[in-house]
Amino acid sequence: MQYQEFQKIIQQQTILVTQGGLLQEEQNISKQLNLYKYRNYQVNMIDQLTQLTIEYPVRCKLCPNLEVCMDIRSYIAHFTNFKKMFPTKGYVCPLCNQQLGQQILRMNIQNYIYLDPNILSYMFKDMSYTNGINIFEYKGEQYLWQEFNYRYKIKREDYVSDLYQRQVVFRQLFCIVNKELRIRQPLILQKCPDRKIVDFKSFYQELTKINFDLEKQGLILCRCNYCNRNPIKFIAGQIYFHEAFYEAFNKYYQIEHNNQNESHFTYIFADTEIDSQIINDVVEDLCQDQKFQRMFRRNTIKGYSLNFQMVQINIGIFSIYLDYDGIYVDLVSAKNHINSTINLKQRKYHFQITKIDFQLSNSIFGFISNNYRFSSDQ
Ligand SMILES: [Zn+2]
Ligand SMILES: [Zn+2]
Repeated sequence: MQYQEFQKIIQQQTILVTQGGLLQEEQNISKQLNLYKYRNYQVNMIDQLTQLTIEYPVRCKLCPNLEVCMDIRSYIAHFTNFKKMFPTKGYVCPLCNQQLGQQILRMNIQNYIYLDPNILSYMFKDMSYTNGINIFEYKGEQYLWQEFNYRYKIKREDYVSDLYQRQVVFRQLFCIVNKELRIRQPLILQKCPDRKIVDFKSFYQELTKINFDLEKQGLILCRCNYCNRNPIKFIAGQIYFHEAFYEAFNKYYQIEHNNQNESHFTYIFADTEIDSQIINDVVEDLCQDQKFQRMFRRNTIKGYSLNFQMVQINIGIFSIYLDYDGIYVDLVSAKNHINSTINLKQRKYHFQITKIDFQLSNSIFGFISNNYRFSSDQ
């Protein structure tokens, strides 16, 4: 056989080889590939027969190790060569040494091998690999995070446009799975009645524990009644990356002096991320205030059930937020507002407001049973 003819055969066969998972009968391989999709592993990209860099990674359909591959042309060349030399013999996969057929003459190689779609999708995007490093680092964790960012995401704009109140109190600061872990990459459990948040880091850890087999094993991330009964078996529709929360948590951690024991923070979503901010609210815990609690209890008015989630009261430059377990007053914004409007003459004498004391008294606000003091220094 002429070299050119040999090349032509290889080219023709190469075109026929499909990526794994395209055919019905190959469901097993699809399943295997899915289990490898988000794993971190290394692939040696030097072809074992030619010592050249692998450009199209293939393996046989029986190969048990999905971290090993050969270049398609090298594989087909090996097969074609073998067929010519030993037409009556069987054929053994050069990667896993398993017999693929009894008689090589009757075999079409494209029915026995497949291109690895996982490796193919990322190998060319990896700079170290294109720079001639022989080991390709398959970074499944990072790819999963990217997937959350473009596929399984609650977009900021959608979330914010649905908000009735632009200011949101974040009460869950630690991951629902790992109570020591501060939330940085928030994934929200969409079906959970409390919409608990799991951090991406511990979600990934949980995935490794079940060998990435969500479908078979299922994950219970939150221990509430609902979540306990309904293990998560797939990502779509169940777990979303919350872009708006991600922004809020990021800003929260940027504040240098934030108290590590804080139980909550309040964030105001403006139209843009730049204008959005944490409000340094002063909080008064009103769980014990019976009168106040009554206001948030479910009421029935003319047959309609009604309950307050959050009430905002504006008195001049002061914004007061009420929700069922506390009152928040944004004194820092008020202070900044006063200081920015101080006139020139006063500014000359370096006149500035440094502290505001604020009192809500129950004789004016009938829904509280005590007077509450707020200070911008707290
Ligand atoms: Zn094999
Ligand atoms: Zn739950």
